[in-house]
Amino acid sequence: MSKIIIVGTGMGSLSAAALLAKEGHELTILEQNYLPGGCSSSYYRQGFIFESGATTLVGFDKGMPLGFLFDEIGLEIDTERLKVPMKVHLRNGETLIRHNDLEHWISEAESIFGTKGQRSFWKFCFKISKFVWESSLKQQAFPPTSFSDLCSLAASFRPEQLTKIPWAFYSMDYLLKKFGLNENQLFVDFVNEQLLITAQNFTKEVNVLFGATALCYTNFGNYYVFGGMIQMVKKITDWLENKGAAIHYRTKVENVKFENGQYQVESSNGHFSADKILFGIPINNVIEIFPDEKLKKKYINKTLNNDKLYSAFQIGVGFKRPAGFEPDALHHQIHLINPLPNINAASVFLSYSHPIDWYRAPLDKMVASISCHIPNPNPDLDIDKEALAQIVFDELDSKGLIPRDAIEYFHVSGAAAWERWTGRKFGFVGGYPQYMRTKPWQMIDARLDGRGAYICGDSAYPGQGIPGVALSGINAFYKMKCSLRK
Ligand SMILES: Cc1cc2nc3c(=O)[nH]c(=O)nc-3n(C[C@H](O)[C@H](O)[C@H](O)COP(=O)(O)OP(=O)(O)OC[C@H]3O[C@@H](n4cnc5c(N)ncnc54)[C@H](O)[C@@H]3O)c2cc1C
Repeated sequence: MSKIIIVGTGMGSLSAAALLAKEGHELTILEQNYLPGGCSSSYYRQGFIFESGATTLVGFDKGMPLGFLFDEIGLEIDTERLKVPMKVHLRNGETLIRHNDLEHWISEAESIFGTKGQRSFWKFCFKISKFVWESSLKQQAFPPTSFSDLCSLAASFRPEQLTKIPWAFYSMDYLLKKFGLNENQLFVDFVNEQLLITAQNFTKEVNVLFGATALCYTNFGNYYVFGGMIQMVKKITDWLENKGAAIHYRTKVENVKFENGQYQVESSNGHFSADKILFGIPINNVIEIFPDEKLKKKYINKTLNNDKLYSAFQIGVGFKRPAGFEPDALHHQIHLINPLPNINAASVFLSYSHPIDWYRAPLDKMVASISCHIPNPNPDLDIDKEALAQIVFDELDSKGLIPRDAIEYFHVSGAAAWERWTGRKFGFVGGYPQYMRTKPWQMIDARLDGRGAYICGDSAYPGQGIPGVALSGINAFYKMKCSLRK
């Protein structure tokens, strides 16, 4: 059995850690924060429990990464499958419900966007998304970077792949044209804002394989975790500790070297060494703390700078629940008539705590997490966050989503807070956006240096949030396991 150091406790590295611990490896997990989970965590403030980042959760359906992971380690978490995954408030004042059932959703889309092209577009997207999820979990050697990866992929090859893979060369913009939807501006705007929250980019840059999968996010099981995302994360960290893993919080990894056949790690909390290391942090951070020439050369053209990334502007709100206030959906995307000043966000995303989730708020109160993208993140960027919050509150009040006079407490945050909370370079979050020039097989391989350093997380598997990073952790585990066997 190997001694392995894991850097970070995001859902990417925790997924790999759980599978490694199940095989009996000796794990030392180093986390710079005082809580686990990174961008999918929760924290207490002023009587409320706020989500750090992620609020929506998919991936528990059969053949999807979280279902696979929790089955493998035999854990269950306290969730509710949402009847209404999301509501979208369009710029023209109409609202639409993103029904989970495909037929129901197609009828809804046709009633708002017109019948032209909708049925065939959504049927096609759903077929692609099913294919992507089904193939992803079966092809753990992805992306292939060695002969044995290719052999492993060939062994699980399905003829269907020949007809689907070429869609990686086409953009969602092309797909809209193919279905005659590119001149339906209301629909194009809808698709762009939906892609931004799932693929971190717009129709011209997101390829069809990822874009169709991202758009059909709401047609899979969507779950609410009682107590906040940290309850899911804590289940895994508790399980890891029971299996003997040592988790050190407030321990920031500052430098990593490969010396005397081992990885030597300097941290804010002392020295650690191991046979292998798995970084669950973005590649931008890895290349700063692991100054390896081979690594720099390999990643110099793959590492994105801040002008290609996003951070998030967030508002955490605790509010009194007005009499009879029973939201018909927990998640809302609100498209704005005027983009928010300075950050140019054309939509905001609002997630309520579940009305009966007494862990997060007393039953007569609720929590709202509101967020939008900040392009070109830089922790020194001076944004008037209070002024932005007031604009957002006006919008939410006018739509009856949060009455202004019900707000008891709120706090705002941007790139600097993200850099502090997660240590992520530039405070960038949400993962590497999709870009047409990066095909799925050109994504960052889990094997970093060809020796014993590995990576997972949302710069390695861009765009698809928690299920995507869980998949990146599963793939990293698979590649580590193959090397441990040799
Ligand atoms: C506002 C927002 C909303 C989102 N909404 C959703 C959503 O609704 N649904 C969804 O599925 N996804 C969503 N996402 C995306 C999703 O949360 C992330 O992609 C995912 O959680 C990232 O996981 P990760 O493991 O890659 O990294 P992270 O979560 O960033 O974890 C990295 C961990 O490493 C630690 N770390 C960093 N550097 C060091 C170091 N040097 N030493 C030790 N520890 C270190 C950090 O503290 C952190 O705990 C959202 C993200 C944001 C920011």
